Amino acid sequence: MAPTIAPVKTSTVLPYATSVVIIGGGIIGLTAALTLAERNISVVVLEKGQIAGEQSSRNLGWVRKTSRHAADIPLALAADRLWAQMSERVGADVGYRQKGIMFVGRTPSQMALHEGWLKSVEHLSLDSRLLSKREIEALVPGGVGDWAGGIFTPSDARAEPTLASSAIAKAAMSMGVVIMEQCAVRTLQMSAGAVSGVVTEKGEIRCDHVLLAGECGHGAFSATSACRCRPCL
Ligand SMILES: Cc1cc2nc3c(=O)[nH]c(=O)nc-3n(C[C@H](O)[C@H](O)[C@H](O)COP(=O)(O)OP(=O)(O)OC[C@H]3O[C@@H](n4cnc5c(N)ncnc54)[C@H](O)[C@@H]3O)c2cc1C
Repeated sequence: MAPTIAPVKTSTVLPYATSVVIIGGGIIGLTAALTLAERNISVVVLEKGQIAGEQSSRNLGWVRKTSRHAADIPLALAADRLWAQMSERVGADVGYRQKGIMFVGRTPSQMALHEGWLKSVEHLSLDSRLLSKREIEALVPGGVGDWAGGIFTPSDARAEPTLASSAIAKAAMSMGVVIMEQCAVRTLQMSAGAVSGVVTEKGEIRCDHVLLAGECGHGAFSATSACRCRPCL
C-alpha cells in the first residue's frame, strides 16, 4: 500500500511567469523551493502527480552516515545538520529523531565488510562502532538473533517521509512558492540559447531558470515515456 502523505492544498492556476521553475515536487524540489524562497527568489514547483508521490514518500527516512563512502561523509554530515534544524525551520514536525542506525551481520564475511568500512572512515572521527551479539540484544528490545555482530552509529537519525515533504511544501508556500500538482512538464522553451520558459500539460510559464528535480522521468520530461535510468531498469 502506498504511504499516506500529510495532505497539502496546492495551487490550480499556473502563473504567467516566475524566476525559477522547479520540475518535480519530491524532497529535492521542495527543499530547493524553500531555500530559494528564503532568499526572496520567486519559484513555481511543477509536479506531474502528487507532491512526494514518488520516491520521497517511499523511502525509509534514514539520515545516515553508516556504510557511506568516506568521500560522501562530509555531505552526509551537512545533511544531518540541515535535518536537525528542519522542524524549527518549517515550523512543523518532520519526524526527525536522532536515535542511531544499526546494521546487523549474520556471517563473518558480512562483519568483515562492516569492519572494512569502519577502517575506511577512521580519519573522520565518527561515533560508529562494531557491536557484539550481546550488545545488539541489549540495545534492541527483542533483538535476539543469530547475529555474527553489527555496526551502530548513534548520531545517525531518521526523518518521517510522510510528514517531511508536506511540511516543507507548506512552509515554502507560506513564503510565496506556488506548487502545481498534476502538471507534467513536457519541454523547455529556449530563446537566444537560454531557457525562457517551460511547456506543461496545463500551459506555458515563462521563467529565467529551470531546476530539474524530476529524479526518474527526467529523460524526456514526459509522464508517459519509459524511463531508462538505473533505478527504473
Ligand atoms: C525503497 C527506498 C528506500 C530509500 N531509503 C532512503 C533512506 O532511508 N534515506 C535516504 O536519504 N534516501 C532513501 N532513498 C532515496 C530517496 O528516497 C531519494 O533519494 C529521494 O526521495 C529523491 O528525491 P527526489 O525529490 O529527487 O525524487 P522524487 O521523490 O522521485 O521526486 C521527483 C518528482 O518529480 C516528478 N516528476 C518527474 N518528471 C516530471 C515532469 N516531467 N514534470 C513534473 N514532475 C515530474 C515526479 O512525479 C516526482 O514526484 C530510498 C529510496 C527508495 C526507493
